[in-house]
Amino acid sequence: YSAPPQSGEDAAQISFIAALQDDSNITQRVLIGRTSLSVNPMTQSLLSILRSMITYEGEGILLDENGLILFHPQTSRLMEAYGGRADVRETLFDETAPDGTRRLVYIKSARGRPWTIVLSLPARQAQQLAINIAAPILIAMVVLVGAAVVYFRYNLGKITSSLQLLAEQATSIAQGRLDKVVEAKGEDEEGRLRTAFETMRLSLKMRLDELNRLLWVSQGVASSLDLKQAVRPVLEAALSVGAASVRIVLTPGALPGLDAEESRLTCYADGHAAQLYADLDEQILTVCRQQERIVLSHPFRPRLLTYPPHAPIPESLVAVALKLENEMVGVLWLAFDIGRSFSEEEIRFITTLAGQTALAVANARHFLTAEIGRKRLEAILTSTSDPILVTDPKGQVSLANPAALRAFSGGKELITSPKQIRLPQELSELMRATNEGVHSIELPLPDGKIYSATASTVYAEGRAVNRVCFLRDITHFKQLDALKSEFVANVSHDLRAPLTLMRGYATMLEMAGSLNEHQLGYVHKIVLSVENMTRLVNNLLDLGRIEAGVGLQLELVTPKDLVEKALNDVQLQATQKRIQLSADLPTEGLPLIEADSALLNQALHNLLDNAIKFTEAGGKVQVGVRVKGDQLIFAVRDNGIGIAPLDQPRLFDKFYRVKRPGSKSGGSGLGLAIVKSVAERHNGRAWVESQLGRGSTFYISLPIRQPRESQPSAAGSGGAAVSAGD
Ligand code: ADP
Repeated sequence: YSAPPQSGEDAAQISFIAALQDDSNITQRVLIGRTSLSVNPMTQSLLSILRSMITYEGEGILLDENGLILFHPQTSRLMEAYGGRADVRETLFDETAPDGTRRLVYIKSARGRPWTIVLSLPARQAQQLAINIAAPILIAMVVLVGAAVVYFRYNLGKITSSLQLLAEQATSIAQGRLDKVVEAKGEDEEGRLRTAFETMRLSLKMRLDELNRLLWVSQGVASSLDLKQAVRPVLEAALSVGAASVRIVLTPGALPGLDAEESRLTCYADGHAAQLYADLDEQILTVCRQQERIVLSHPFRPRLLTYPPHAPIPESLVAVALKLENEMVGVLWLAFDIGRSFSEEEIRFITTLAGQTALAVANARHFLTAEIGRKRLEAILTSTSDPILVTDPKGQVSLANPAALRAFSGGKELITSPKQIRLPQELSELMRATNEGVHSIELPLPDGKIYSATASTVYAEGRAVNRVCFLRDITHFKQLDALKSEFVANVSHDLRAPLTLMRGYATMLEMAGSLNEHQLGYVHKIVLSVENMTRLVNNLLDLGRIEAGVGLQLELVTPKDLVEKALNDVQLQATQKRIQLSADLPTEGLPLIEADSALLNQALHNLLDNAIKFTEAGGKVQVGVRVKGDQLIFAVRDNGIGIAPLDQPRLFDKFYRVKRPGSKSGGSGLGLAIVKSVAERHNGRAWVESQLGRGSTFYISLPIRQPRESQPSAAGSGGAAVSAGD
């Protein structure tokens, strides 16, 4: 039990009672005692702590289990009941003291006894205490932070300046300035970054230098067609790898036209030891035929090459075959004075150089091929005795061989260059006629000879670029032709009188006395043959006359009348063969044509005669007339047997007849020749379109009005000649 303190003491007393038991736990005696807490040695340490609270202007209080105060700094309050909170095991709270100040109160129950300790302290004191405790820590922290700031400032500054340097370096690399060296310092991250940067700069510089060299090489290769000039940059670029000798060796057939030196290798070399290892050329070429590349760091080791005794041997070498498509044209090989290995970049560089060399060889090859072709053509053109002309698309003469220059030089005029040549009207028209294949005409030239000119178009990549004209001297043939025609004309003329006589007497035989049936048959055969021969002779004479230009009676004729007369003339023949004749004329707009009506009628008659002759019974023959520009075109169309393409070009030649198995039509082969001559005498032309088995259409095209000056001209009709074909 708690008891009030003795006077002069600052803590309450405790009375207690305890049972004293023997060994068998039976209470024998009872102890009753009382002790003062202020002197009891067991409570001294507790009380001194409670008293020490005064130092901090606080108070320490001890309460018993009934809430009575056992210790209090104010002794008057001992044994009073404690008014505040004391019912918890442990708590801390602040409260307002009666004097209005804030206090911190800590309550904790004691261990071993159901007592409670209450410590209270003014808040101000607590704060002061906290400040006292925190101040040194704060100072220490400020010092530490300051030190950290200084440390980081110093180190970060170093990193920043390093980064700045690298950024500058990166900028100058980006601008293509690769000469600035990045110094590598230390082993740390920054050092490693600098080293990486420097490595990158060096490899970039190397790559760029290599590219520059290759660019220079390819410019060199493209700028010259002379192989020696073109490979010079290749040799120089190859030397930059450090080689003592660079050699380009070409196979004997690599370039065309070097026939004289067929068995010798063509070489281009550079470097201080350029000629020293020349003996290896052939061996390296042979090996490179099997393998595209030779890389020897120690040329002795693999027994790829054999070295003659005492011959100089390179310490290392690289050779790359020169290939054009799949053809090996040579080798580029580098020899070194020192034994060394080759990086992948170096091999790639040398291979690229080999590619450029092959390109130079290809260029030179194309150039030489073209050049040889040109020289060959020039030699042919110069040596040929036939004149040859080439005109550009504008019709200007761009090339003429010496024979052509001679042909166009006549009288006093001496022509020495193609530019001086003045083409005659017909020839320049022939040269202008593009896209129409080959054409030919006959014409006299200033040298007094007659030429047959054939022109054709020269195409390049599908486009007509030039016209080329070959002139053949046909003067001799013309003279022969004229002689022959004269002879034929004379003979024909001389034959006419006896033929008339023979026919007269043969028909008179019947009148002279009676003949038996056999005799009559023979007489008929004689008359028929004489008539055939007379027709042939008449045809020959007509042709001779037409070609000689005799008797062309120009007058204005109506095409319709011409057609109707020609149709009338063959009507009987057609009816006998049951062939339907018709005319196809436009109802209006047909102009009068200026022509020799008798000749034109003969031409139409010949065409209609043939059409009926070569059309099966029951077929159709039609004559049409059309106007095209300043030309009038007559067309005689049949649906007969047709003409094979092979025969068509020669159809209008004199005496030409199509050979058909089983055919026995007895023509002379002069009918179409007369048609052609009539057309040409009128400054027109005749042609045929035909398909075997389907029929033929023969055309005569004539100018509606004859040109004034072109009354009978020798050139248009092939001269005053009757020819038996060219
Ligand atoms: P010919 O007097 O022998 O008929 P031409 O010069 O008139 O001589 O004709 C030459 C050849 O052309 C003839 O042999 C004939 O085979 C062929 N020919 C002419 N016209 C026709 C035609 N309309 N149809 C088929 N063949 C023809």
